Amino acid sequence: MADALTLRVITPEKIVIDTTASAVTFPALDGGMGVLPRHAPMVAALDAGQLAFEAGGERQEMFISGGFAEVRDNTVRVVTEASEPASDIDVERAASAAKRARERLGAGKNQADGEPFDFLRAEAALRRALMRKLVADRSRRG
Ligand code: ATP
Repeated sequence: MADALTLRVITPEKIVIDTTASAVTFPALDGGMGVLPRHAPMVAALDAGQLAFEAGGERQEMFISGGFAEVRDNTVRVVTEASEPASDIDVERAASAAKRARERLGAGKNQADGEPFDFLRAEAALRRALMRKLVADRSRRG
């Protein structure tokens, strides 16, 4: 079908989604991107955030943790470390992950010596947690 897209979201664990969509949006590092059928080929690096698509007249939303998107031949392939549909997001788990990451960032900042502190890792964990909460909130509010 020339006027539809195939959307595949793949993590190291599984194919999270393999479906047909009429439009897809995702969080590219340089801003939100929308893809319609017949889009020019491209590759984009992704931020953690919301991927949304229209399928059968319905909008569906998912969390993706970053990675890459490739658009080619009416197919959007997203390769990401972690992804789940908005409805599967455990908001309490995300809140605990955000709290842990904030504590780590606070402790790391005040640390004079000892173990080297992985600031980027803690910051990325905080961003994933906050984005999961945002994606879940948005989709619950409709
Ligand atoms: P946590 O510390 O809670 O595990 P994390 O950011 O380290 O969070 P990820 O590495 O992004 O977790 O994901 C690991 C796996 O757990 C993935 O399969 C992901 O889909 C799932 N996952 C992580 N957080 C949540 C959540 N809040 N709700 C649902 N699934 C989640």
